[in-house]
Formats: sequence, C-alpha cells, structure tokens
Amino acid sequence: MPSSLFTSVSGASAEHEYYTPLPPGYRLGKTKFIIVTGSVMSGLGKGIFSASLGKVLQEHGYRCAPIKFDGYLNIDAGTLNPYRHGEVFVLDDGTETDMDLGTYERMLDITLSKDNYLTGGKIFHRVLSQEREGSYLGRDVQFIPHVTGEIKRFLRHLAMKSKADFVLMEVGGTVGDIENEYFIEAMRQLAYEEGKRNVCFINVTYILEPGFLGEQKSKAAQLGIKRLMELGIQPDIIACRATHEVTEKVREKISIYSNVPVENVVSMHDVPSIYLIPGMIKQARLDRRIMDILHVNHQRKRAGDGRWLHFIRNIQKPEREVTIGITGKYTALRDSYASIIQAVEHAAASLRCRAQIKWIDTEKITSQNAAAALEGVAGIIVPGGFGKRGAEGKIACIQYAREHQIPYLGLCFGFQLALVEFARHVLKLKDADSTELEPKSKHPVIDILPEQQGLASLGGNMRLGGHDVLVTPGSRAYALYGSGKIRERFRHRYECNPKYIPQFEEAGLVFSGRASANAGRIMQILELPNHPFFIGVQFHPEFLSRPLQPHPLYASFLKACLPPA
Ligand code: GLN
Repeated sequence: MPSSLFTSVSGASAEHEYYTPLPPGYRLGKTKFIIVTGSVMSGLGKGIFSASLGKVLQEHGYRCAPIKFDGYLNIDAGTLNPYRHGEVFVLDDGTETDMDLGTYERMLDITLSKDNYLTGGKIFHRVLSQEREGSYLGRDVQFIPHVTGEIKRFLRHLAMKSKADFVLMEVGGTVGDIENEYFIEAMRQLAYEEGKRNVCFINVTYILEPGFLGEQKSKAAQLGIKRLMELGIQPDIIACRATHEVTEKVREKISIYSNVPVENVVSMHDVPSIYLIPGMIKQARLDRRIMDILHVNHQRKRAGDGRWLHFIRNIQKPEREVTIGITGKYTALRDSYASIIQAVEHAAASLRCRAQIKWIDTEKITSQNAAAALEGVAGIIVPGGFGKRGAEGKIACIQYAREHQIPYLGLCFGFQLALVEFARHVLKLKDADSTELEPKSKHPVIDILPEQQGLASLGGNMRLGGHDVLVTPGSRAYALYGSGKIRERFRHRYECNPKYIPQFEEAGLVFSGRASANAGRIMQILELPNHPFFIGVQFHPEFLSRPLQPHPLYASFLKACLPPA
C-alpha cells in the first residue's frame, strides 16, 4: 500500500487526492475491524447480534470496542422522541445515545463513552467546523475524501484509545439508505487501507416467510446483499434473521448469489431471550470463522463462565412468576423502555423468577378507578417521562401504591410525581405540582434546576450523565446499596424544590440520597419508612443494570413484590 495514502490534515492540499488523517502513533493491523451492516429492513437486531458476537470474542480473551453509527443529522439522540426511536440511553460521560449502546454495555459489561457513538450530524458538524477554521487549506470540501476521512479517523481513534483487539462497527439503517451511503463508502476505503486480513464484513439480512406461502423466501435478502456488493463491499459472513431456523436450501441460494461460502451463511432465528444469542453464535461456529478470516488465534483464554450459564438457566427455567405494573403505553413500543425491561429481567433472573409486565396506560386513570387498573399487579414502576400527558393518572397510581402498601419504584419522573402526590395528599398542599406540568402552580414542589433556567436550546443541556450520590447511613437505600457513596446516571431538568424539603421531612418522608455536588442541594432518593417498599430516585438505575449484576434497587423492589417463599 502506498505510504502517501496517509496524509495529515495539512496534507490534504492540491497535491494529494488521498485524505486519511491518522491519529498519531496509529499502527495498521493492530486492531481488527468487524463491520456489521443490515439489508432488507431495519430493526433486525444488528445491535443485539453485534453485542453478542462481542461477548463471544471476549470469552476468547479479546478486548472489544463497540461503536454505533446512526445516519440521522442529529448530533446525538437527546432530542429524539423515544416513542419513535426507542429510549435515549445515557452514558456516564453524559452522551445521549441510541438504545443499542445500552445493549453493548450490558452484554459486554463495559462502560462506553462519546467515542463509541457516531451520528451523521456529529461527522458533518466536525467537518464544517474544520472548514470554518481553514483546516482544509483552500480545497473544496467533499464527501470523498473529507467526510469519509473523518469517519475513518474516528474509528481509528477509538481503536487506539480503547486498545481494543476488535472494533465492532454497527452501521445503523439499511444498505441502500441515502443516510448511510457515504458511511459504507468509508468502510470500503477502510478495508482497502487496513488490508484484507484486518477487516471482516458481516451483513445481517432478513429471510421472509409469508404466512400465505408457508416457506422461506430469499429474494429480498439477495437483492439487499447485491446492493452492498454494488457499493464495492464483499461480505464475509451473512447472518440471516428469520422467525424459524433458515433452511439449508435458502442458505445455499444466498451463498451462490453472494460469493459467501454456505458455512458462512448462518441462521440467526428468533430465540426467547437475547441472552441466548451468544450461545447461538458459538453453536454456528461463527466466532471461529471470523477469527479465521481475521487471522487471530482461537480461544486464547477460556473464560470460566459458569455464572453466565446459571443466569441463562434462571431465565429459561424460572421457579416463580410475578406481575408488575409499569405505567406507559405498550402500544408506544417496548423499545422506549428497553433498559427498564432489561433491568427487571436481570433482577428477576437473580431471584429465579419471571416478571410479567403489565403496561398501564394512565391517560384514563383517576383515584376512583386506580384500584381496578392495578388489579393483579404486585408492584408498580413509574418510569421517566416528560410532560403532562397521563401524569395525573400516574399520580393516582402512586397514591394507590402508597396507601395500599404496594411496592413502588419511581424513576426520575416517578420520583418527582411521588413528591407531588405526597405533597397533595399528606402535606395537604392541594395544588402542589411540578412547574413542568403546571407553570403557575401555587405549590411548585418540583421546579426547574437553577442552572436550567433560561436555557434556550434543547440539545445536550439537561443535567446529564453520571453523578455521585451520597446515601444516608441507616436508611433503606444505604442497606440495599451497602455503601454511602454511589454513582448513578441522570437525565433531568427539574428537581425537588429545596424550599419544601423541611415540610416533606417533617411529615416522615426520608430523603436518603443527595447530590454530592451543589452542596447536597439536589434530592436524589426518597423513601417512606412505614411501607414495604416505596422508593423514588431522581436518576435512572436501569442504565447500570447488568445481567450478572442486577441493580440493587430493582432486585430489592422485585423481592418485595414476591410472595414470601
Ligand atoms: N421531565 C422530568 C425532568 O425533566 C423528568 C425527566 C425524566 O424522567 N428523565 O426533570
């Protein structure tokens, strides 16, 4: 490969067509790249597949750095509507990302940062800023080489910073989308520059099985893969998503059309839990094929994964069942509550039970019909949320839980509404409210954070990311965390109005967690002592739950929901 292929930013002048800014000290071939694209349709679970593959490679003793690219022009996921795009997953450094980053953190048991998430908006923002700074030395700034160069730089920066053996690159959307075409071009260039044995392309495709035919059809997949090949990319592996196991015949057909040996065309059909997918990858020997393609040794270390197998067994063969209610519309897509559902699943597995979730649409709930709406639920979670819609119904559910000794877990908005409920019905401040819901409230027990006052733009400026929380010794929270100092992730604009703290405390409500910064002003955990389990938290514990380390709040909430063994 010509060394002039790599130039610095300043080298992108009239003499060079090549523009590949390399991070200083970058060594070609040190990190292997696995690039996962999708065809036929989006929503196939590319993130789950990539995360599972990463987990298997970890078991071989390798270090994996996942990265997701989203084609939209938003700089991050912060301003996206979760009902359209799935939940906004918040990283410790405050980056607001796509829900797939949550899947990566959980499956790989690692903590990610802004370097693991890239959007079209973020790339263009950087290219345009550099243009304004004059970094391109009079050249016309082009998709190729400048935008593609920026993408390659980002990936190589991650490779160096993470010291990963493998960078797992998930390209969001579908091959053929306008939004990711230049990105796929950048991946083609990357493969050319890094060399054949250093880059492996996996296409996740979909095998249709229309009910009226009763058989699997591969045409859509063939066309999708062909589209990828038209862009100059020869896939090494084809992972076929399907409802049922993909037949040999269909795999052969795809193999012939795509130049991929049939043993590298594998079935990734539906399984009852995403945590079974790493096992499926191993069974298909996909990990080994990828390691062969990339010329790395198999099984440098066999991780003794008895705990993982135990976890899987508990998921598959629960001994008990419990139903918990979560306020939120099921029809609003499970993806909007992805981390909560996962946190419940992890906690349930640790208790050898299965938690059924009953979604409670609160728009029509009042204190008169709350009992009927909550019939059969052993505990209630009010998750994070924004705005007025359904808020009164959530307050009615919280009142019911408080008065009827039903375990309650309030998350962020659920913490704030628990305070509104307590203020209205225990402190007898009839008009108590959050200024988010009622700006002119006479008793604004929840009010905007002072630093949020007057902020005009919406993106990236909530109180975001990981913050330390001081937990009061002797409290329930202290007992379940087993520590006086914890770290949790936040995403909010409002807080408990400090003016009302004394009144809450006099009436018996305990604030057992406070921010360690801001002189402890921001209340972070509330609990009611004379209740089986009533805890609200200003943060999102679900972002920290991992399969083998269920979050203590979820685990003890669920335990409180179970009938005594
Ligand atoms: N809407 C509330 C706030 O901005 C709660 C946010 C949330 O639940 N994530 O503070």
